[in-house]
Order: sequence, then C-alpha cells, then structure tokens
Amino acid sequence: MRAHIVTYGCQMNEYDTHAIRSELAGIGYSFVDSYKEADLVLVNTCAVRGKPVEKAQTLLGELRKEKRQRGNLTIGLIGCLAQLPEGQRMGKRFNVDIMLGPGAITQIVPAIERGRFQSFEFDNELRFYSPPPPTGSVSAHLTIMRGCNHRCTYCIVPTTRGPEVSRHAEDILNEARALADAGVVEVTLLGQNVNSYGLEPGTGVRRARLEGYPSFAELLRMVGRVGIPRVRFVTSHPINFDDDIIEAIADTPAVCRYIHLPVQSGSDRVLKRMAREYTRDFYLNRIKKIREFLPDAVISTDIIAGFPGETDEDFEETLSLYREVQYDMSYMFIYSEREGTPAANHFDDMPREVKARRLARLADLAKEISLERNQEWVNHKVEVLVQGPFDEEGMSLGHTRGNHVAVIAGNLDPGIHQAVVAHATPNRLYCIEALEDAMLDSTV
Ligand code: SF4
Repeated sequence: MRAHIVTYGCQMNEYDTHAIRSELAGIGYSFVDSYKEADLVLVNTCAVRGKPVEKAQTLLGELRKEKRQRGNLTIGLIGCLAQLPEGQRMGKRFNVDIMLGPGAITQIVPAIERGRFQSFEFDNELRFYSPPPPTGSVSAHLTIMRGCNHRCTYCIVPTTRGPEVSRHAEDILNEARALADAGVVEVTLLGQNVNSYGLEPGTGVRRARLEGYPSFAELLRMVGRVGIPRVRFVTSHPINFDDDIIEAIADTPAVCRYIHLPVQSGSDRVLKRMAREYTRDFYLNRIKKIREFLPDAVISTDIIAGFPGETDEDFEETLSLYREVQYDMSYMFIYSEREGTPAANHFDDMPREVKARRLARLADLAKEISLERNQEWVNHKVEVLVQGPFDEEGMSLGHTRGNHVAVIAGNLDPGIHQAVVAHATPNRLYCIEALEDAMLDSTV
C-alpha cells in the first residue's frame, strides 16, 4: 500500500501531516513522491488564505481524472478546508472518499478502513497526539494548544479549529523529552495563539489561568530546561504577548530570540474593522518592550494589504509603522475573502489591482529594510542549524537562531554549526564556517 500526502498550509498542517504519516506507517503504508504511484492520496489543506484552497482544488481535479482512469485510487481531503462548506462542496464535486477536519485527523485509519468517514465535530480528546520523533530530522514541531478565541473578522480559524484548548504541560514536556532523546536540536511550539496557553476561555488580557496549567512564560522556561538547544514558538497575538513572556525569552538561553508578532495593519481604523483588539500604539509599545529586554531580537510580522475599506491614508500608516519597527522579515498577503468570515459577510472588497499595487509597495519597503538589517550581520558570528544541501554544489542550507535563511559554504552535516556572515541579501545570509578562535562579538 502506497500513500502520497500533499500539504498546503502552515506549520500546524505540517505537524498534522507528520502525525498522519506515522499512523499510516503503523498499518503498513509506504510513501511515494507522486500521486501517480499511490493507492491513497491525502490533501491536507489550510483554509486561512485563498491560495492553498485554489491549489487543493486544482490537485483534486487532477486526482479525479486519475481515479477515473484507473479506478483504484482513494482520495482524502483533510485539514481545515474539509471542515468548511467550501471543502464539503469540493469533496462532492471531485468525488473525494475521505473527509476529515483538523480535530479528527487521528481518525485517519478507521476512515480508510470504512472507506468513507466524515467528522466535522470538534472532539477535544482527538485534538492532541504525540507523533513519534521525526526520523533523520534535526527540527520538530510540537503542538501545545489548538483553536483560537479571538474573532479577527478576516479569519476562518475559529470556525475550522474551534475554541482554544490547551494541552496538558506534562504531555508537552514528555513529547519534548522524547524529541531531545531522539537528537532533535530545534523544537517549535505550535498553536494559533501560543501566548494564550493555559488561559480560561474568553479573549483579551484579563483572562484567568486554568487550574493546574502554567502560563505560556512558565511553559517556555520548562521546555527550555529539557535539553533541546533551540526552542521556538509560533504564533503570537500582540494582546496576549505580555511582559512575562518577554522576560522568559530573555532569561531562558534555549529560547531563540526570534519573535513573530503579527500586526496586520498600521491603521487604528483598519485594526478595528479587523477586530484585532489592539491599537497601533499598543502594538508599538510591545515592540519597545521587546527591544528593551531583548535588544538583539529578530522581529517579523504578518501584514494584510487591501483589507476592505483600507484607504490610501490607512495604507500609508502601515508603511510608516513598518519603517518605525524596522522588521527583519515579514510575511505579507493580499486580502482574500474567505467564505463565512465576518469580513466577507459585512464588508465590500476592493479591486485586486489596488491590493496588488499596495502589496508591491510594501514588498519594496520590506526588501530595503531587510537588506539593511541583514547587512548589519556581515562579519558577525551566527549559529546555523544546517538542514541539508543547498541547490548550489558545495553549499549547505540552514537557518540562524534568529530564523534568517543561511547558506553556508561546504557540504556540512545536519546539525548546529558556528559561522561568520560574509555577505547578505534581503532574504539570506551567506556564511562561512567559523574557526574556533575567530574574532566574533555576537551570536544570534
Ligand atoms: S488570532 Fe485572529 S488571525 Fe489568529 S487565528 Fe485567531 S482569529 Fe485567526
């Protein structure tokens, strides 16, 4: 039995794919690189943005054709998209055999056995699982919570993944210890808003702690003591990114000083329409605090260009915030309407050319600032986690503690290497391996 799994989406989807692979391996499946050779094809798709959904649709069209030609292909649509009416329509249209939402993916084996299984209910028991450590990989993901209690008007996650549920700290620590024993040197703690870990249901900053659960800051310290040299986390919400978390990062050496703090817009008017629950000033105050406690922190963000009702003035405010923060890197997107979200129901979209023009301006600014920020690393020492060979002969690819993509000279073994930055572009640091006694003054 041969399976092929395609993942379109975020790290949560990748983590789920890893769990599914281990479930399938447990019942005898091997894995192939092309759907042409597979008996079972699973499409694990995020539904937050339009792009992965479009890709899934195209692939499902190809798979339907393949199935018609040879008859013996089982197709599964899993992940957030399968949870939505849009995904269910696709399931029918493309003759999909298995549909599983993200809360039920551990049901993949019974689903295959039954041939058809649909689950759109959230089941807390099913949300967490401990997949075995990845083989041959130096990095791993670890889910600490699922779902989201915020209600950003553009976002489908609260519908697809349900309300926040935190995983018990002891289970998290056991999984982290297993990863450390397996030789994993970098773990990324995952959740839609990891900063809310262990909080009572509700939103905002005044929520009480769940009994028996540590705060996210305490959890960071606990995971930081397990023995994995690098601990990361994604993603954060500015309203829950409190001073304790900043202090925990500052005093826990294993926690990487890389902070991804999505801002989405620099305009208070747009932030309000997005229901982000913070203002521009609140966000900038968080950045100030980060810079105060962690002057060497690498900071990135997410921005949406062309949210409904965003005026030229609003967009200028986003550009000015970007300049003020001086982000090291960013992930920017054109607003894409998602069926079932408040923004799609209540706001009028704008012409795509306007959004594209704004995105291009933002991308130009980001490129300019990233280049300046990256050039500051030239002649400085960085710690690179090499993951494998780079496209160019004789070079290896990895990333720094600050999450910069790093290309390092030599065919190096996967693992941590000390290096010196020789050259920087907006997207990469080009490095050479550092000699033991190199004159270096900082490591990020
Ligand atoms: S914080 Fe907002 S954008 Fe993030 S998952 Fe929750 S609702 Fe979606």
